[in-house]
Amino acid sequence: QSKSEGGNRTLFYNLDNTYRLHRRIDIEASLRPALYMRQFYLAYQPIFRVSDGKMRGFEALIRWKHPELGVISPAEFIPIAEHNGLIVPIGEWVLREACKRLAGMNNYGLGPLIISVNISPVQLQDPTFAQTVLHILDEHDIDYSSIELEITENVTLKHSEKVLSSLSKLRCAGVRIALDDFGTGYSSLVNLKQLPIHCLKIDKSFIREIDLPSAERLIVESLVDLVHKLGLEVIAEGVEYKEQYELLKSWGCDYVQGFLFGKPMNPGQLDLSMIKTNGTPASL
Ligand code: C2E
Ligand code: MG
Ligand code: MG
Ligand code: MG
Repeated sequence: QSKSEGGNRTLFYNLDNTYRLHRRIDIEASLRPALYMRQFYLAYQPIFRVSDGKMRGFEALIRWKHPELGVISPAEFIPIAEHNGLIVPIGEWVLREACKRLAGMNNYGLGPLIISVNISPVQLQDPTFAQTVLHILDEHDIDYSSIELEITENVTLKHSEKVLSSLSKLRCAGVRIALDDFGTGYSSLVNLKQLPIHCLKIDKSFIREIDLPSAERLIVESLVDLVHKLGLEVIAEGVEYKEQYELLKSWGCDYVQGFLFGKPMNPGQLDLSMIKTNGTPASL
């Protein structure tokens, strides 16, 4: 019996692999025209300040409406775009689109909002990256300090002079820089000291476990303290439960983002939810 089960597993595994391969080929082929066919759009997820419960700003998250496959997650197509280089024009589109949105956005009387944009390591490798970013911000007359670039560790870990000099140039110009997904991949505390960042985002895989007596609970509590001692701010992402929020608040976490407060939304939905809640969701 175990033999036939094993045989079935192999068959499923192979079918699964064939399916995955076809899907990848399909995605890769339709990624190139997707930009000029206007199949991408941005969803916006609010980020809230713990101290007063007000909105700090929002993170722009790309979505792709594929004509046959439906909405495809960035977790699936961004790695492919990074592999074939399309992430560079796609990344520029994201920044332009986010700038347009920020310019046209109601700030709900909350003062200047910060818009966070994810930047791929591949984009950072381009020596003209900093110049391109500042150019796009100028085009849209956006205050440099209202943009936060979210970078990830794995790439910057390479610590190339190129990457560091782009980031320093942006930082000097006033652009904010956040280290995203902290705690995953090639996390290193050294990055906290060496990278020119303002802010650290603790990955949701850590936040998920903090309401249990877990290692994650101890790590996140200490991390908030450490990050503050380094003079940086901290955002917790993936907050889904009130208990998680209460703990983060008691530890002095600066900002929170997650389904508990708001999912990624289209701009109309975001406006509506802000108006309905008067800028502070019931969960805060
Ligand atoms: P990320 O930058 O860490 O973004 C946060 C992800 O967590 C988003 O997934 C968001 O929808 C999800 N999330 C937010 N709150 C919760 C929560 O309470 N629970 C759970 N389970 N998830 C939550 P999304 O939109 O699918 O994006 C996945 C990743 O794709 C992003 O992770 C980011 O690394 C990448 N990405 C998204 N947009 C872009 C982009 O414009 N450019 C680049 N280079 N990467 C992008
Ligand atoms: Mg992010
Ligand atoms: Mg993240
Ligand atoms: Mg990420």
